Amino acid sequence: MNNLICVNCETQLHPSRMGLILVLHADFGPSTVWKADELRCPGCGTRIISTVTLTPLAEYWQQKQFESVMATVRKVPHNVVHCYENPRGNTEPLSSSTPQQEETKPDGGSDA
Ligand SMILES: [Zn+2]
Repeated sequence: MNNLICVNCETQLHPSRMGLILVLHADFGPSTVWKADELRCPGCGTRIISTVTLTPLAEYWQQKQFESVMATVRKVPHNVVHCYENPRGNTEPLSSSTPQQEETKPDGGSDA
C-alpha cells in the first residue's frame, strides 16, 4: 500500500477498517468492484478509502463474474463502500463551522 499522508496534519494515515468492498458506480449503475481498506488520520480524523489490489474483483462487462461478485456484495452491506461519479448525500464541507472573524480594533487607535 502507498504511504498516504494527511496534508492538514502532516502525518501518515493509519488503517481503521480492513477488508472492505468498494463499489464504483457509473451513470448506468455499479461498474467496478474492488477490495479496499479504510484509513484514518490520527490527528483530524479524516477517513479515506484505498483500493488494495492492482486489479478489480470484477467489472460490469464481465457479466457472470460481476453478477457473482455483486451477489456477495449484497450479503455484506456493512462491509461495502460506494463511490459515485458525483457527490451525494454527505456533502458537508470539511470545515462545517463558519470562520470566526477576529476582533478588529479601529485603525488610528491611541494604544500603539
Ligand atoms: Zn489529519
